[in-house]
Parts: sequence; C-alpha cells; structure tokens
Amino acid sequence: MLSAPPKSTDLDSLHLVMQLLQTLDNGLILLDADYQVQMWNSFMENHSGIATSHARGQSLFNLFPDLPKTWLKRKIDSVFSLQSRAFCTWEEHPRLFNFKSTRPLTGHSEKMYQNITLIPLSGLNGSITSVCLLVYDVTEIATRKKELESANRTLKKLSRTDKLTDLHNRGYWEESLEREFKRCRRSKRPASLILFDIDHFKVFNDAHGHSAGDEVLRAVAKAVRQAQRSTDIAGRYGGEEFGIVLPETTQDQALLVAERLRETIAGTVVDWEDTPLQVTVSLGVAEYSDALDDYQAWLGLSDKALYQAKEDGRNCSRVA
Ligand code: GH3
Ligand code: MG
Ligand code: MG
Repeated sequence: MLSAPPKSTDLDSLHLVMQLLQTLDNGLILLDADYQVQMWNSFMENHSGIATSHARGQSLFNLFPDLPKTWLKRKIDSVFSLQSRAFCTWEEHPRLFNFKSTRPLTGHSEKMYQNITLIPLSGLNGSITSVCLLVYDVTEIATRKKELESANRTLKKLSRTDKLTDLHNRGYWEESLEREFKRCRRSKRPASLILFDIDHFKVFNDAHGHSAGDEVLRAVAKAVRQAQRSTDIAGRYGGEEFGIVLPETTQDQALLVAERLRETIAGTVVDWEDTPLQVTVSLGVAEYSDALDDYQAWLGLSDKALYQAKEDGRNCSRVA
C-alpha cells in the first residue's frame, strides 16, 4: 500500500520562503523602527562582506557609516509613519551602498549604481513593524544612459559647430542671434552685432590656393576667439564671412572691439609652405534698436555697414 505524501508544515513553507529570498538577485534588508537590521539576504552578505549573523541587531548606520544618514532616516521614518512605499533612484543617490560592480562591461563603472525601494511590512496585528529595503543593481542601465548622454552632448556640439574654424556654424549662430534679439526686446538692454568679411579673398585663393585660404580662415577664427568675451557669440556666417553677437554692448563699445579685431587680423602672419600670408577684413557694426522688426533686419543693418566699409576702401570698420 502506498503511504500518503508528507504534509507540508508551516516550518517547511517558511524554509522555502527563506531560500527564495536568498536566491534573489537584489539586496534585501529588513529593518526595525530603530534602523536595526533584522535580517538580510545573501546579495547583501556577498557585496558587503558582512554575514547576516553579524549584521543582525546592528544599526544600518553603524554597518555603513558612509550612508547619507539624515536623508535616509527621514525616508525610512516616512515609510513607517505614512505606511506607504518610498523610492530612491540612482539619479538622486548614485551609490547609496558603496558596493563594487560585479558585471564588468567595457567602459563600465567600477561602482554599483542602485535603485532602492522601501516597503512597509506589518506584523500579525496589522501595525507596521519593519521596513524592507530592496536594493537593485542598475549599473548597466545607468552606465548606458550616461554613455548615451555623453554621445548626445558630442552630437549636439558637432551639429552646432563649423568644422573648419570650430566656431558656431551658421544655423546655430543665427539661432543665438535670434535669441539675443528677443532678449533685447524684453529687457531693453543694449546689444551689438559685428559682421565682417575677408577682403579680396577670391584673389587671395587664386594666388595661394584653396588650402592656404582655409588656413587663413582658421587663423581669423583664432583671432576672433582671442578677441571675444565669454558672453560674446561668434560664428562663421558664410564662406569667408563671420558674425559676432555682443550682449550688453553699445555700438561705440562694439566699434572698439571691431577695430581691435581688425588690427589683430591685419597684423597676423600665417606661415604657409614658407610663404607668409596676410589678409585684412572689413567690418560692419549695428546696435540693436526697438525699431528693428526682426533679427534679419538687424543682420541687414550690419551688412549695410559692412558694405560701406568695403566701399570706403576695405580694412576698416563702419557703424550702421
Ligand atoms: P571682397 O573684398 O569684396 O569681399 O572680395 P572677395 O573676393 O573676398 O569677395 P567674394 O564674395 O567675391 O569672394 C569670396 C571668396 O571666398 C570666394 C571663395 O573662393 C572664398 N571662399 C569662400 N569660402 C571659402 C572656404 O571655405 N575656403 C576658402 N579657401 N575660400 C573660401
Ligand atoms: Mg563675402
Ligand atoms: Mg570677401
């Protein structure tokens, strides 16, 4: 005769549950209201190097002195008092527990990024007796997100930059000009615009070649970078045309900047295959005014002044 299968006892199921918790690939910490560890699982043992038997009965903050004590206490207290879950993402606190990452990838972080969930647990009488901290290893997601953000920053910079001169390209420079135009309209603060163009550059290219011309364009851009203040916005507007937006600058001040830049460029000698190369530029300056309909009108004004500078013999600056 077959005997009946052994009856599952409460102790059996408790044993199974305990095993289940040990196999979790997340950290699990049970805390009482005094932040004392009641138990934790093997994930916590493995990463902290502290056995459950040693951790039990000790304050979490003694076991991990680096934890943000005030902040985490407030968080745990709120779980007890509000009887509801709380969360902490790796973006708020990248590494709550100072654990090493165990999943090495290329370009991967050494340290483990973590998300934490805090869950209130009630005893048989229904009152909250413990808080369970679940620790998720999100190193892979965090690292990928950081890589993506860094790639996006690089792409953004590339999409705004002129490859030859490393100044802003036309698209982004015009956007900046439009932003400044709108800011002036609101703030009633002054701002000026300088547009300048290399003199007789066609002849220069014909005489020295396009590569020499490119080298000169780079030298001109370098002079612009050295002349501009950190708030000025310089860009390559066309082939051999450049623009500088000067916030908080009147036309008289901008004319001084333009003249200084003109002199610097005229005095710059570029060594090109043992040939010293020099160019001059003509500049047009225009101050913002409420009479201007849009930023294109502002551009038109400095273009007019630039045209005047060309008419007046080049290598000079004119104000609109
Ligand atoms: P002006 O004094 O009236 O400005 O005369 P210009 O010859 O400079 O004016 P124009 O607009 O007729 O010619 C501009 C020249 O700039 C034509 C072109 O060969 C040159 N250029 C435009 N972009 C580049 C570039 O990226 N590299 C080089 N090397 N030359 C360029
Ligand atoms: Mg031109
Ligand atoms: Mg030119």
